[in-house]
Amino acid sequence: LRHLVIVLGDQLDLHASGFDGFDATTDAVWMAEVAEESTHVWSSQPRTAVFLAAMRHFALALQAAGRPLHYTRLEDAGNAGSLAGQLAADIARLRPVGLLMTAPGDWRVLQAIKAVAASAGLPLDIREDRHFFVTVREFAAHAKGRKSLRMEYFYREQRQRHGVLMQDGQPEGGQWNFDADNREAFGSAGPGLLPPRASFEPDAITRDVIALVQARFADHPGRLDSFAWPVTREQALQSLQDFITHRLPLFGRYQDAMWPGDPWLYHSHLSAALNLKLLNPREVVAAAEAAWRAGHVPLASVEGFIRQILGWREYVRGIYWTRMPAYADGNAMDAHEDLPAWYWTGATDMACLRDALAQTLAHGYANHIQRLMVTGLFALMLGVEPQQVHAWYLAVYVDAVEWVELPNTLGMSQYADGGLMGSKPYVATGKYIQRMSPHCQGCRYDPAQRAGDRACPFTTLYWDFLMRHEQALARNPRMALQVKNVARLSDADRQAVLERAGAIRRGEVGHG
Ligand code: FAD
Ligand code: SF4
Repeated sequence: LRHLVIVLGDQLDLHASGFDGFDATTDAVWMAEVAEESTHVWSSQPRTAVFLAAMRHFALALQAAGRPLHYTRLEDAGNAGSLAGQLAADIARLRPVGLLMTAPGDWRVLQAIKAVAASAGLPLDIREDRHFFVTVREFAAHAKGRKSLRMEYFYREQRQRHGVLMQDGQPEGGQWNFDADNREAFGSAGPGLLPPRASFEPDAITRDVIALVQARFADHPGRLDSFAWPVTREQALQSLQDFITHRLPLFGRYQDAMWPGDPWLYHSHLSAALNLKLLNPREVVAAAEAAWRAGHVPLASVEGFIRQILGWREYVRGIYWTRMPAYADGNAMDAHEDLPAWYWTGATDMACLRDALAQTLAHGYANHIQRLMVTGLFALMLGVEPQQVHAWYLAVYVDAVEWVELPNTLGMSQYADGGLMGSKPYVATGKYIQRMSPHCQGCRYDPAQRAGDRACPFTTLYWDFLMRHEQALARNPRMALQVKNVARLSDADRQAVLERAGAIRRGEVGHG
């Protein structure tokens, strides 16, 4: 055996660089399902099932492409239980001359594989992951010498460089950003008839995986009774088409809206397919731009969507790979509370959180604004240790892989990187949630009250957060207005907030 080509669960692309020069007569592919990937964080059942189902379908695609494959299943006798252990065992058995792979997404996995190669005395050829528009080296060049990194400038550079939504060197429509046209709530009339989610009935392979996960990880969070995620390239392409036709036209307008009982709305639900590499971001961006050029979709929607993929997704990957491993330890707000246990069960009486958590556990999905402004916001203002918040986000979502999850959680949501990613902590009272959704109407709390028995915990914790960090935040000009408001509070007001916040932290308020 000449090369063993390592393929990880989030590298399911037949055209990945790891396959360049693949010779079926001398090379073979290596894949393994190992329990460690579901237990290093308490991986939810939907998340584990998406990975395993997609891996097993990809194994078939490899066979159809005539590429010899050594594949270890989770239930195989002698499964070593970890990527490193299984790889070491298979190297000893197969005796390859060298190892080869597309650059992995996780820092932890890269270290593990390097260590295995070194101890086996084998060369390890790690190739650039050309799935992404921007290489880590290019991102590092962009970041060099900048004290803070702002997504907006990075994104504009990428639009120009890749000629996306550009006309004669200028942005289409004469502006880079259409946020002002986007981000409406549904209003009292509600969302009306929403397009159905693109769903995929589990086939025999996926049903086997579901049964396996339910048996093997029975005590892990989340449920599998409505599993409908795309797990093959064909299904991922159908999902993309479905989004472009039915949801992209209103994507921008309702990007930040929430509606009880419906997490899907006008979002794409493509993150898992993208992160597993079943979809290429170039084809996603091209399909969105083509729909606009054909006159099917408003520019503001398409720009808002492309910004997420060509902007945010590439930018967080750059942050991750240029800042790891120290990035994972960030705790700029010095937060040390435990994550409330009900994050894993949904047992809370706060209507907005209960809904976001129920969807998360049922599907392994919540949309961006639920992640940022409901579950993330609450943890930030409660003062939860960022590493616990990170472990939760990495565990529960079907699209969770560390390179994208960690900067979003630690940086964007928890401000634990001290402002590298965002210019200020995203903090808000319950009134923000009231503006973007009708949740508060059905809630026992009142977003307008900051103290007392009916006070919305978000509102209480907002004032508590400002009080706790008053001095540090006063140095941030973007927080000036908020800091000024907190300075106006009387001693009695402060005391009332402190009492209520204490009750929330002790778990006397908010549990279901
Ligand atoms: P859409 O709203 O339809 O957006 C389109 C696509 O843009 C997404 O599929 C995704 O690929 C990309 N995208 C959108 N926002 C971001 C972003 N902030 N960063 C990177 N890519 C983005 N996304 C993940 O893919 N994996 C994660 O583990 C993850 N963890 C998150 C944790 C927190 C605390 C927050 C605030 C956000 C997180 N996100 C994560 C980003 C975002 O919330 C999800 O990508 C999005 O909700 C996925 O749903 P969708 O495919 O319907 O996205
Ligand atoms: Fe959420 Fe507060 Fe509104 Fe209740 S009142 S739904 S806790 S924001």
